[in-house]
Amino acid sequence: MKYDVVVVGARIGGSTASLFASKKGLDVLMIEKNQEIGTPVQCAEATSSSTFQTLEMEPSPKYVCSEIKGADVYAPDGTHGHLEGGYAEGFILERKIFDKHLAIESAKVGTDIMVKTRVKDLIRRDGKVCGLVATHMGHTLEIEADVVIAADGIESQVARKAGLKTQQTPSTLCSCAQYEMVGVDYDPHYLQFYFGREIAPGGYVWVFPKGDGVANVGVGVRSDTKTAYSFLRKFTANMDATPVELNIGGVPVQGPVDKTYTDGLMVVGDAAGQVEPFTGGGIHVTAHCARIAGEVAVEAIEKDDTSRGFLKNYQKLWKKEVGKDLKESLKYRKIMDQLSDEEMNILAKFLKDQDLESISKMSMLGFVREYPQFLKLLKEIL
Ligand SMILES: Cc1cc2nc3c(=O)[nH]c(=O)nc-3n(C[C@H](O)[C@H](O)[C@H](O)COP(=O)(O)OP(=O)(O)OC[C@H]3O[C@@H](n4cnc5c(N)ncnc54)[C@H](O)[C@@H]3O)c2cc1C
Repeated sequence: MKYDVVVVGARIGGSTASLFASKKGLDVLMIEKNQEIGTPVQCAEATSSSTFQTLEMEPSPKYVCSEIKGADVYAPDGTHGHLEGGYAEGFILERKIFDKHLAIESAKVGTDIMVKTRVKDLIRRDGKVCGLVATHMGHTLEIEADVVIAADGIESQVARKAGLKTQQTPSTLCSCAQYEMVGVDYDPHYLQFYFGREIAPGGYVWVFPKGDGVANVGVGVRSDTKTAYSFLRKFTANMDATPVELNIGGVPVQGPVDKTYTDGLMVVGDAAGQVEPFTGGGIHVTAHCARIAGEVAVEAIEKDDTSRGFLKNYQKLWKKEVGKDLKESLKYRKIMDQLSDEEMNILAKFLKDQDLESISKMSMLGFVREYPQFLKLLKEIL
């Protein structure tokens, strides 16, 4: 078997890369180890309209559960800020449907898909990746490819087998646990975020409403002592709601890996750490970078140059387009890490009265004069 491009993993990263490579007429195969694309879900399912712009798709009620107009953010003492519109706008997806829909769209433009097929190894010649070995229902297959795109998520083995340093460690990951719950009667148009070391050390609690009393209620933590699940149980203990699904997973929150390409291979999405470290949002970034990978694969094959010298363009482009945002997001995550609950409360009280789009230097200076412990953080932000 021989393809122009073989993509490993068939969720947001894999389907986007294969969609944009197939659209331009390449022979593309996408391989997924699970028997069904999109399950199990490991996501709170919130995304921004930029995802749809990247995919050149309209948000459809087929896979959008609720339209988000804003967010409520709670400090440990309950101080509450409300965000309306702007960055807080977006959608809650039904990812089981959305991910499969995206794979279907990719198949419609020509992508071949194999499910229940696990990639075990890479084929390399003279140091260059030129295919892979997979198993399907007890059979071993060797598939040749000019380009391999690794979109195999947080536990990615494929890029590592090609020599890229994509391994995450407990310190670079946020551990998450989430219930999809019934009986959560929040406004379906607003996200809820709760911060505090007691409820979610190194992360936050989210309640993302899907409408009709259903919501994703989850916790992301970076803790050496307790599991995300134990924090989730504690947060939901007094809620008059019941779970219909439990998801557990890790989010890379240390920023992208240093190198995302080598001879004959590119790595995208969670496998490449392409997630906003502050929010843990990866859907829009993964879609953006995976589209670039698909398009660079097209050019590489047209020019008959799939060497690392050419595939480097992928890294150049994603860094140019999303690199700055990811860096900023990491900076804010590191700042949050330094704040005690008391400092979060003080900051929340200050921010509550500000227009976040245009906080004046004067009001910041006044704040730092009153609370000099924030001077160092302010310097880091500026
Ligand atoms: C609890 C939680 C909540 C989150 N909430 C949000 C959110 O609200 N908004 C947001 O934007 N982001 C969120 N994220 C992050 C987001 O889910 C990811 O960034 C995004 O799904 C990454 O997509 P991906 O295609 O790179 O990887 P994945 O979605 O992990 O897909 C990888 C695919 O590769 C397959 N695979 C792996 N190994 C192999 C192999 N050897 N052979 C074949 N197939 C293989 C897997 O089965 C899987 O289908 C959340 C993450 C978690 C864990």
